[in-house]
Formats: sequence, structure tokens, C-alpha cells
Amino acid sequence: VSPRKLSLGLVLALVLSACAQTAPFLPMPDAGGAMKEAAAQNALSSKYRGSLGDRLRQLGTDEASDAERRARIEPVAARLFAAAAPFCRAPATKIGTGGGACTHPIVFENGDGLNAHANSRRISITRAMVDLTASDDQLALVLAHELAHVLLGHTRRGMWDRVAANFDESVEKTDERHADYLGLYLAARAGYDAREATNLWRRMGAVLPSIIHGDHVHPGTAERFVALRRAADEIEYKRRRGLPLVPGR
Ligand SMILES: [Zn+2]
Repeated sequence: VSPRKLSLGLVLALVLSACAQTAPFLPMPDAGGAMKEAAAQNALSSKYRGSLGDRLRQLGTDEASDAERRARIEPVAARLFAAAAPFCRAPATKIGTGGGACTHPIVFENGDGLNAHANSRRISITRAMVDLTASDDQLALVLAHELAHVLLGHTRRGMWDRVAANFDESVEKTDERHADYLGLYLAARAGYDAREATNLWRRMGAVLPSIIHGDHVHPGTAERFVALRRAADEIEYKRRRGLPLVPGR
């Protein structure tokens, strides 16, 4: 083998391995579908007025106490963690990074912002986010998205990785897309209805129209809804054929 062919082969191998690392599994984006969905979410959002709390009430969220909210979170988290266990135990697979990811406590936050978050120690969800979820399927998707960030190693990035990611919004957005995709599989594996879960993102756009087209780190609610609907179709296809519910085609 000539050195020229060898170096060409080496470059090709590096490019392929880089592709495999950055995008191990993710369906192609659907820009046309996202445009249509953005119009639908904008039309929906025009029905709601006032503060976020007002909008959530107009959307028809149940009045619940914090104790009731916590009581909803606990069984959903337990089912999710049990279903994700095979990924937690398998270190260095293309899906999970292992390392006790499934022992993260889930913390209920007394916050009125629509937020859920994962770091290297815990997963948190705010009161408003719990209220946005119209079903346990939707709540499972929120928690599973955060668990997916942990399993994919996003929460173990070093400080410099995170600083660099802030300058490169595509890194953060790609992380979000991967966490959405794996999260939906985790929710489905735990027995939740994947298609119903995706409605969360339409509700999110309806009460927070400022993020229908995304922000500097998050893809828009329209894009996320459309991508998750595709993933739900993929999951449904695999389920019908008795195929394992593992991300990827
Ligand atoms: Zn995320």
C-alpha cells in the first residue's frame, strides 16, 4: 500500500469515526414539516393571554398541590429508570456511557419557569413544567429527555467543553436533538405512549410562542414536535414488527 493511499484511508477512517460519534442515530430533519407546525403553534398561541401562569391555566392544566405533583413524578421516574437500566449498565456503548447514570435523584423545584435540567449529580423539574404535562406520557418524555442527557454523557463534559459549546450553538442543539430522540425511546420502553408524549411540544409552543423557532441553544418547539413525531412513527413500526426498541434504523 502506498503512503498516499494509506493516508487517504486514514483520513477517511477519521472522518467516518467522527461522524459516528457526532451523529450515531438521528433521523433526517424535516424543515417543511417544521414550518407548517410553527404556523399551527403560532395560531394556537394566539388563544392564550397573560403571564405564563395565566396561559397554563387557560391551556387547561389541573390545579394541583406540590405534594400531588411530587406524587406524579415518583412512579414515572421509577418506571423510566427501570426501563433505562440496560443502557446504564452497558459502559461505552453508542447509546449510554454508564457510570451510575440511573441513580440520579429527581428533584422537584419550586420554580415558576418552564424548565427541566440535568447535571452530573441530579435531574430537576420545575412546578410549571410538571403543570404543562397533560399526561404521564408527557411527563415521562420530559424526565426521559434529561435522563438521556446523562446517558449520552452530555452532563459529564468538562468545563472547557462547555465553554466551547457555548460558542458553537450547533453542539448544544445537536445534544438536544439526541436527548429528545433517545428520551422518546426510553419513555416508550417504560411503557408510555410515544405519540401522546410528543404533544408536549405543541403545548409548549402554545404557551411560549417565543421559542417556536428555538433559541441559541434549543431547537424550536415546532422542529422538536415534528422530529419526535417521526421518532414515534419509527417506534410504532418497530413495535408492530416485534423489533427491539433501540434507537437507530
Ligand atoms: Zn435538553
